[in-house]
Amino acid sequence: MHDLLVRDIGYLVLEPGSEIADAWLAISAGRVAAVGARGTEPVARQTISAGQRTVTPGLINTHHHMYQNLTRSYGPAVNGSLFDWLTGLYPIWENLDEEAVYVSTYVGLAELLLGGCTTTTDHLYVHPRPNLIDAQIRAARDIGFRFYPTRGSMSLSIEDGGLPPASVTQDADTILADSQRLIDTYHDPQPGAMTRIALAPCSPFSVDETLMRRTAEMSESSGVRLHTHLAEDLDEHTYCMERYGRTPVEHFEDVGWAGNRSWVAHFIHPSGSETRRLASAGVGVAHCPSSNMLIGSGTARVAALHSEGMAVGLGCDGSASTDHASLWLEARTALLLGRFIGGPTSMTARDALGIATVGSARCLGWDDELGRLTPGSVADLVAWHMDPVSLAGAHTDPVEALLRCGPARAWITVVNGRVLVESGELRVAGLADALVEHRRISTRMQHSFAH
Ligand code: ZN
Repeated sequence: MHDLLVRDIGYLVLEPGSEIADAWLAISAGRVAAVGARGTEPVARQTISAGQRTVTPGLINTHHHMYQNLTRSYGPAVNGSLFDWLTGLYPIWENLDEEAVYVSTYVGLAELLLGGCTTTTDHLYVHPRPNLIDAQIRAARDIGFRFYPTRGSMSLSIEDGGLPPASVTQDADTILADSQRLIDTYHDPQPGAMTRIALAPCSPFSVDETLMRRTAEMSESSGVRLHTHLAEDLDEHTYCMERYGRTPVEHFEDVGWAGNRSWVAHFIHPSGSETRRLASAGVGVAHCPSSNMLIGSGTARVAALHSEGMAVGLGCDGSASTDHASLWLEARTALLLGRFIGGPTSMTARDALGIATVGSARCLGWDDELGRLTPGSVADLVAWHMDPVSLAGAHTDPVEALLRCGPARAWITVVNGRVLVESGELRVAGLADALVEHRRISTRMQHSFAH
């Protein structure tokens, strides 16, 4: 007998292009066990109706900074350049502690569930106090989210020619010792893992060369993946030319990061030859369309990256640069922006959904299990709720309708075979308390800086 049967699926997307109308899906031991057509449903211990809604693989978030939801749409910093925005916020972020990180992660994961996300990375690169990623992992385990935190870091303070103040940087030995501790304690390379760790020095203007090289060596010896921001902004380009005498991508290659264990956020300003080199090295890209547009310094050329064979995944980026964490909205925005830049034949809704699922799974080196609903895949899925008014007249293509008509939000979200959103409501016990705490902590952090 199966553990869970999702029945009454109006349209089932196993992966974009492999789709079944009027279907069911059965789950056993956290994996998709079988799918079939209406009328052939098997028996299961628990049954849930999708109410004729469209079901897709859960969306996968390849770049985020959840702690930033403590400073969302923060007025004094919100309308500057990337460097203005960062230097305005670093002094507030130096107040982060375990409680603040736990509660911001908890609220961030709840928001992601409602937007159809079932696996997320996170990039916490401000470590004014120890054990902050441990607090994140506790929050993910309390909820039951599939979590791929990255050990972010900054080692280059203003005194050493970097952008951040010394209060939010650490020395390389401290960073690397904590990175190894997190790998040893939490990284699970086994199939179906709920927690994996990657290493993520923040950016060329906040991390020194030695830390980049030593982190790449640790990735090699530990078999974990590498993540960083790359070619996000023209100020970064200028900084790299002045400090290192090479472009951000040349610097990335020089410090030993151009390999198939790396995925990078943004990748807006590479040259054509740089794109070809990183594509052939197997580097993936986390595309963050809303953040790119709000920061206003360009966006990744997704169609061009695809034509070079690069894995392109989706990310919402930080809660204080994107100000939301709906992966549905990011997928729709990727569709709009892709067509705006590349023309009407450059991207379809299936392409955008593919970026958010299989493309993201490739970025994480996990596409053997994640990003599809074919039997054997992990049981991470979403039944999408779209208001009937929004869908009125959309009869021909449920996938185009999903991203074009919206707004869509999760009606059911299943992670590892467990129902975490049902009838559009979160089944996350501690959320009300977490929101009260979040308000108290975020008000205190913003107030203490303003006064
Ligand atoms: Zn980012």
